[in-house]
Amino acid sequence: MSRILILAEHDGSRLNPSTAKCVSCAASFGGEIDVLLLGDSLGEIAAEAAGIEGVGAVITVEAEHLAAPLAVCHAVELVALAESYTHVLGPSTTYGKDVLPRAAALLGVNQISDIMSVEGPYQVKRPVYAGNAIVDVSAPESAKLVGTVRVASWSSAADGGQAEVRSSTPNSQATADTTWLGLESGGSERPDLQTARVVVSGGRALGSQENFELIYQFADQLGAGVGASRAAVDAGYVPNDMQVGQTGKIIAPELYFAIGISGAIQHVTGIKDAGTIVAINKDPDAPIFEIADIGLVGDLFKVLPELQAQFG
Ligand SMILES: Cc1cc2nc3c(=O)[nH]c(=O)nc-3n(C[C@H](O)[C@H](O)[C@H](O)COP(=O)(O)OP(=O)(O)OC[C@H]3O[C@@H](n4cnc5c(N)ncnc54)[C@H](O)[C@@H]3O)c2cc1C
Repeated sequence: MSRILILAEHDGSRLNPSTAKCVSCAASFGGEIDVLLLGDSLGEIAAEAAGIEGVGAVITVEAEHLAAPLAVCHAVELVALAESYTHVLGPSTTYGKDVLPRAAALLGVNQISDIMSVEGPYQVKRPVYAGNAIVDVSAPESAKLVGTVRVASWSSAADGGQAEVRSSTPNSQATADTTWLGLESGGSERPDLQTARVVVSGGRALGSQENFELIYQFADQLGAGVGASRAAVDAGYVPNDMQVGQTGKIIAPELYFAIGISGAIQHVTGIKDAGTIVAINKDPDAPIFEIADIGLVGDLFKVLPELQAQFG
């Protein structure tokens, strides 16, 4: 039977929603599921993780030097606890993509990235070529399967679990080689782009940073997160942490607005798992209409205020 260890992400006060999605993925493998939390003062976060249905145990490793999410220390902790597990999973977020490959290297196995579906205990599917092709991957059963979970492909495991929480002693030490300088937040009050239920994104058609205010206003009306195409980012209308797509964020909101965005494959790959996609574009042949559930052909500078008035 599989024994699965999930590395959970958190920000020091709340559990990242990606953990519940990793639990869904783990449940598809079948077997026992434990969650590992690394940090300092993890009490409340551990209680959150213990409440996810399907989790058998939450293991906490607390130390001052683990408060910062430094892969150099976190990978050592993960590997130290991984011994009795057949599978080691983490989210395909910045944190997971930092820690899991390092852990895989220390364990002497290859990492499987972006697991989007599970076909058997050692067989998964993952996207390649910006989501244009899906490959079947078989991992050797004689080795540990280490993988990142494409969180946009999985729904969250339900609440209602009552896992035991137990602590383990740290195996790593603070290192002078890598120093945590700090984390700067954009300081936005808007919902986080990667977890928002509704996202409004703007493209090159906005034409300027000032005009992008239209997107912010509409998003605020809906209580939505805000994203952008790479062209809008490259043109300097918005910061690059708002980029959606292959080289930006992969998101799966329930409702996605693509406004003045052509629908290039590199953008579309970031929203493939969105629920309903609404596109506004003045070109009726824009590729975004091929994947949109609702399409509005028109000039965004006319259509958007009309739409805002409807919501007002
Ligand atoms: C390796 C690589 C990685 C990439 N990664 C990403 C990525 O992660 N994310 C991403 O988004 N792109 C990415 N790109 C870039 C991608 O190929 C496109 O260039 C980009 O998505 C285009 O952005 P856009 O749709 O805003 O601009 P454009 O392609 O210029 O499209 C603008 C659209 O707005 C419409 N429009 C113009 N004026 C109006 C108006 N007044 N009202 C309504 N509609 C209007 C036009 O008809 C057009 O369809 C990547 C490219 C490469 C090569």
